[in-house]
Amino acid sequence: MDRQQEYVLRAIEERDIRFIRLWFTDVLGILKSVAVAPAELESAFAEGIGFDGSAIEGLARVYEADMLAKPDPSTFQVLPWRGDQRGTARIFCDILTPDGEPAAADPRNVLKRALSEAADAGFTFYTHPEVEFYLFHTPESETGPLVPIDTAGYFDHVARGTGHDFRRATITLLESMGISVEYSHHEAGPGQNEIDLRYADALSTADNIMTFRTVVKEVALEQGIMATFMPKPLAGHPGSGMHTHLSLFEGDTNAFHEPGAQYELSPVARAFIAGLLRHSAEITAVTNQYVNSYKRLWGGGEAPSYVCWGHNNRSALIRVPMYKPGKGQSARVEYRGIDSSTNPYLAFAVLLAAGLKGVREGYELPDEAEDNVWDLSDAERRALGIAPLPGNLEQAITVMESSELVAETLGESVFEYFLRNKRQEWAEYRAQVTPYEVSRFLRAL
Ligand code: GLN
Ligand code: MG
Ligand code: MG
Ligand code: MG
Repeated sequence: MDRQQEYVLRAIEERDIRFIRLWFTDVLGILKSVAVAPAELESAFAEGIGFDGSAIEGLARVYEADMLAKPDPSTFQVLPWRGDQRGTARIFCDILTPDGEPAAADPRNVLKRALSEAADAGFTFYTHPEVEFYLFHTPESETGPLVPIDTAGYFDHVARGTGHDFRRATITLLESMGISVEYSHHEAGPGQNEIDLRYADALSTADNIMTFRTVVKEVALEQGIMATFMPKPLAGHPGSGMHTHLSLFEGDTNAFHEPGAQYELSPVARAFIAGLLRHSAEITAVTNQYVNSYKRLWGGGEAPSYVCWGHNNRSALIRVPMYKPGKGQSARVEYRGIDSSTNPYLAFAVLLAAGLKGVREGYELPDEAEDNVWDLSDAERRALGIAPLPGNLEQAITVMESSELVAETLGESVFEYFLRNKRQEWAEYRAQVTPYEVSRFLRAL
């Protein structure tokens, strides 16, 4: 047993922990949890705990249904909402095949593989997300109607507002679990909120996002309301993005920073942005994985629809924020395409792979977009070389299908499973006759 494992076992005794939840994530980014007694943990550390992987989306084919969950002791945390006595803790797990190999279909393993490629090139990958979500009164049925908990807007201070209390309760829980929050505020939509997590290495950030979603759902239940990370719950209001800030470090040095260069962007940063731009269409099915994601991307409300970058240009897919003088270590680029429903492990893996490909192959960064690209005509955008992002899930999976980059990064089994699952989603969606069609056509035709 190593020291971290020993520390976890001691903490369990000292803090009277009676239940250990083993957490992992399926291919679509849904959190899975199995509770074990503390006595099981020692053998779980040694050889993993067996479970039937065929029950989990995308994890195992039926003939290799037996999988092992092996807890990562560095992720041990007490779950504060489960109370102080006879407490519950969670540990994220890596999924192994029965012979102890990392399971190809484990999203955490997909990200680890991408991170180790970056490490081979001398880089550590840091990310921090701005997570947007909506708060609604609990709807009576699955189809609504949806009533937001307030009618406030961007940065509004709502006196005695539920959202305010909600954010405070959420942040208190997160911080007690070691997850630091940088900013939080009301977003533009009614009942829409944003909480920004502090930057960390990409694996920790992905774990933190999974924890964050759970905490937000718990606090909502506690307060008798409903929280959702659905990308576009209300047609007439902004969707919920998860803008993510990305940077590469070489040792202790931010590899994106170069004093004196344009916007202080180093050649590595420029090539990384170029990689993100060139491969953005291919990775969009992963960063925006549901039919509903494209209602956000193409529904206005400051979501990016076109492939371009800009310095503080909020209509661009990639924004280079302004750094304060002397704050070179915070040099980063903000990818605005991704939404709050993504699987963070897979999304970070493809974002990293796209950027790194640009760095490896020395992609040239195109000119920045200085205008609000939504206001240009199609012809003007074409003349500037600004292409649209995929318009719907079908277009996105069609581009992804022929992407070597995505196939290599996800690995064959996740790639195949993902495409199959998304084709199915598209087929189901396409077969629907929507309320819009009935009201538009029933009487008129
Ligand atoms: N909600 C917008 C989106 O979906 C972002 C709004 C903002 O943070 N400026 O991307
Ligand atoms: Mg923000
Ligand atoms: Mg925002
Ligand atoms: Mg932002």
